[in-house]
Amino acid sequence: MKDKIWLSSPHMGGNELKYIHEAFENNWVAPLGPNVNGFEHDLEVFLNADIKVAALSAGTAALHLALIECGVEFGDEVICQSMTFSASANPIAYQGANPIFVDSENETWNMCPVALKEAIKDRLEIGKKPKAIIVVHLYGMPANMEEILSIAHEFDIPLIEDAAEALGSTYKGKCCGTFGRFGILSFNGNKIITTSGGGALVCHSQEDKDRAVFLSTQARDDAPHYQHSYIGYNYRMSNICAGIGRGQMEVLKDRVESRRAMATFYRDIFAKIDGVSVLTEPSSDFYSNHWLSAITVDSDKTGITRENLRLALLEDNIESRPLWKPMHLQPIFANSPYYGGENAENLFNNGLCLPSGSNLTQDERIRIEAAIKRAFTI
Ligand SMILES: *Cc1c(COP(=O)(O)O)cnc(C)c1O
Repeated sequence: MKDKIWLSSPHMGGNELKYIHEAFENNWVAPLGPNVNGFEHDLEVFLNADIKVAALSAGTAALHLALIECGVEFGDEVICQSMTFSASANPIAYQGANPIFVDSENETWNMCPVALKEAIKDRLEIGKKPKAIIVVHLYGMPANMEEILSIAHEFDIPLIEDAAEALGSTYKGKCCGTFGRFGILSFNGNKIITTSGGGALVCHSQEDKDRAVFLSTQARDDAPHYQHSYIGYNYRMSNICAGIGRGQMEVLKDRVESRRAMATFYRDIFAKIDGVSVLTEPSSDFYSNHWLSAITVDSDKTGITRENLRLALLEDNIESRPLWKPMHLQPIFANSPYYGGENAENLFNNGLCLPSGSNLTQDERIRIEAAIKRAFTI
């Protein structure tokens, strides 16, 4: 059996161990310390403007805190892009609130502004003003932020950007994750950079960041004994993980370049195959980190389905994965309201994510190209 080619695997830069050693030497083996502060600072510099970042244990934890800071409580409604990973929606349920799912548009595969507006108007009519909107920048592709933001402003609903997959992506030159009331990032093992596991909440004020740090460290009141006036969480990032993050920040720009080169690699291959389209920026306003390269297959034209392609790749031990199954089609959210048409469903039925790691070798790329060409018999 040939070596496995992964969809997206961790890619160390070299200095991660240096920061971890420093942590051990100074005994900062705790969920606080110089690496946590340093990693937050690196992210703030990278995202620029007046951004404040709180490093946390996971992107999911960051979303949970964003919802809490937006005042989402039991019985509230929160609008969420349907086409996403379940971690975008689960924190809504953690709060005892109800998700309202919205379809995607075909250009970016992200939240459709028309369906979003329809959803808000309909919820208002039945007397339920949504407490927040969660928009996702799927596979690194920025959502249509101008329209989404203007709708959020029009109805005065806070926007939370799930930029878990989009560190290094920009829309009109501004970093994804910095548009909304809050943004969230993920540093899980498969993301563009990793801390093995981790996340961050992107804030626009020191006050919001302080609140996130307070809640993520068990909500301890200022007292010599342990005193609590709020329910707290154990969501802070470990100083060891943050050391990995500092090393990764040194190579983030290279990682974005490499992932973008993988998207070009696939565009070149599929330019010769009628009926396959590669997710591509709709205009120069959009700059994707191309965390994952993703395609849709029109089986009427190609004669094969995305599932045929997936299995053909698997035969050569190459991992690929269908696009996210929309949340409104998931058993756990079967009873949640949904607005829009069948774009997200069609994307799921016809779409596939291809190996996109920044560490793929030339030999691995040759194997991938050959396997794709075999599948399409060209
Ligand atoms: C990875 C991911 C998350 C969750 O991040 P974790 O750090 O794994 O908790 C949330 N949303 C999206 C879109 C993701 O891809």
